[in-house]
Amino acid sequence: MFELLKTDPSSKARLGRLTTTHGIIDTPVFMPVGTQGSVKALDPRELREMGTEILLGNTYHLSLRPGMDIIRAAGGLHQFINWPHPILTDSGGFQVFSLARIRKIKAHGVEFRSHLDGSLLFLGPREAMCGADSALREECAKTLVALGFDGYAIGGVSVGEPEPEIFKAIEVTEPFLPAHLPRYAMGLGTPAQLVELVARGIDMFDCVLPTRVARNGTAFTRTGAISIKAGAAKADFRTIEDGCECYACRHFGRAYLRHLLNVNEILGLRMVSVHNSHMYLKLMADIRAHIALGTFGEFRREFIGNYVPSRRVLLARANAER
Ligand SMILES: [Zn+2]
Repeated sequence: MFELLKTDPSSKARLGRLTTTHGIIDTPVFMPVGTQGSVKALDPRELREMGTEILLGNTYHLSLRPGMDIIRAAGGLHQFINWPHPILTDSGGFQVFSLARIRKIKAHGVEFRSHLDGSLLFLGPREAMCGADSALREECAKTLVALGFDGYAIGGVSVGEPEPEIFKAIEVTEPFLPAHLPRYAMGLGTPAQLVELVARGIDMFDCVLPTRVARNGTAFTRTGAISIKAGAAKADFRTIEDGCECYACRHFGRAYLRHLLNVNEILGLRMVSVHNSHMYLKLMADIRAHIALGTFGEFRREFIGNYVPSRRVLLARANAER
């Protein structure tokens, strides 16, 4: 199922290939998030053209709406959403954090109510895995490896933890994971964080950031995030990112996209979503090419050197160094 093709001499970065019944996935891979069976504002044709090999769906949300009976009657999720390629569905463990207002911690798991109809739901260790500190993560990793799964997910660091905590969670877990199986860091991160997580031995990523921030008019570039909605873009006729080959950058300038965002035209948020998703997928393709060539170390140094992190990330780094 998973072949480890090459490891990087300068870091723990790995080039791999995951073979599934619905298609082949080259790793490291970014998986656009289609929580409700759709990647927000993007259609399957666009996603394929950008190089999407696998989509993410969410069991919790899809089991509430439209319900498993409807998905089953459609012939499965692939048929229902017209995506014949691989899909990864996550357990719904994240919703216990994100819907924290309505949770109740019990001895063997977490009880919480549907945010839609109030029906009582339960997630225990059997249903979903979380871990919190280094010792628990080590114990958790060793126990799960002993059980012999086909791949391992590292979660519980995608609800706004500072960057140093994210890296630490990965660093303490990774040494206990078998080299010949894929590793998935759930719900992460910014472009620079993806580069650093690949360097720490992660193969698979999913994140809502590219489409979520796009809807607020923020675009990711290789030098950091920029606001397309801000006044600075008012008469800026450059594309979002020079050299980007996405549909938005091939056809529109920042000033027009800013105008669309400011008058709430759907095309504006769609085009920034196209650019951001394309940027993440192209970044992963470049990472794979550099690991294959043995030049990932130089690529990583250059990328991190050029990328200006957000104020929030800089603040977290400063606090960690104190
Ligand atoms: Zn673009």
